[in-house]
Amino acid sequence: MTEKRLCPSCGKPNINVFYKVGNVPVHSVLNLDTREKAIQYPKGSVELGFCQYCGFIFNTVFDPSLPEYTSGYEATQTFSPTFNAFHQKLATELIKRYGLRNKTVIEIGCGNGEFLTLLCKLGDNKGVGFDPSFNAQRLPPEGKNRVSFIKDFYSEKYSNLDADFIYSKMTLEHIHDPADFISMIRRSIKKDDTTVFFQLPEVRRILRDLAFWDIYYEHSSYFSRGSLARLFRGCGFDVLDLWTEYDNQYLMVTARINRAKKSTILSQEDDIDALSKEMDYFAKNTPKRIAQWRQKIYGIRDRGKRVVIWSASSKGVAFLTTLGIQDEIEYVVDINPYRQGYYMAGSGQRIVGPDFLKDYRPDAVIAMNPIYKEEIKNILGERELYPEVFAV
Ligand SMILES: [Zn+2]
Repeated sequence: MTEKRLCPSCGKPNINVFYKVGNVPVHSVLNLDTREKAIQYPKGSVELGFCQYCGFIFNTVFDPSLPEYTSGYEATQTFSPTFNAFHQKLATELIKRYGLRNKTVIEIGCGNGEFLTLLCKLGDNKGVGFDPSFNAQRLPPEGKNRVSFIKDFYSEKYSNLDADFIYSKMTLEHIHDPADFISMIRRSIKKDDTTVFFQLPEVRRILRDLAFWDIYYEHSSYFSRGSLARLFRGCGFDVLDLWTEYDNQYLMVTARINRAKKSTILSQEDDIDALSKEMDYFAKNTPKRIAQWRQKIYGIRDRGKRVVIWSASSKGVAFLTTLGIQDEIEYVVDINPYRQGYYMAGSGQRIVGPDFLKDYRPDAVIAMNPIYKEEIKNILGERELYPEVFAV
């Protein structure tokens, strides 16, 4: 189905809508303290559209007034050693590659400032973090003298901070009008040598893996290397580098203001044909994948066995609500103590810590990210639990 609306990334018409899912909680990781509240949490629809010109994929029916990024928004991954090792490596590499020593760095959407603190500590930098949901009590102690925080959305009114490095991790995918946002960042920069860095989910892996659990309401925008580079270039940047990290789950881009009016196109940006094929593959095969997962979970339950989901993240919420699973699974495990005791938006499972499993003794665990499979097995093994662990 082709729609006449305009692409919010490149501004051209003809958007092909290829995937629809209804009843999606408008927020996945707000802490909800009763099962009723969780099940009745406001819902919206996702209808993914593909722009045949720039390759941008977005929720064509997204309503930006619905999600709220206030306190109670609990998205940190820093309780995982696997994730922390990745952060350490990334900070070290960025410092080396872009000479980030004794510089001023800004993070847009900094959460509780974990990565910003690390970047400032390792490079002796001065940091300013922007996040409306920032919670000062959760700031790592090393951050206190190095970083300051502004509980606001970043905008041009903060140009005076004169940063050498402006970056944002896992934020752009939440922004429904990316060209507007990246143009605003471009206007906020005063120095030609300021480097901009963004990290976000990579969409081609989602399409190839039929990863329907990676599609949820807060994520209105989905990028490939090519569509991301085209966005930055269209907003007046030169793209320095494009790469992926974390088992190809995260897409990274660095850019600087382009004053030359001439821009070098990287070979890896040429991905429209491949994207178009992967979009068709996803549209055709995802309904089958959803049916297979339902059968698998019903099968485990029908044999009288217990299965739990590992990770009360947005992926876990999207997995359960897309499958329409409620009573078939009773609990979701999360190692983040700030998620435990609350309930999963939309599907209503209680979120528990790993120790709860010592009594519950699940027969199977579904890991919402294969990268954590070994970490999960270790945590279970420490409790003398050996259920079958499979990953999405
Ligand atoms: Zn476009």
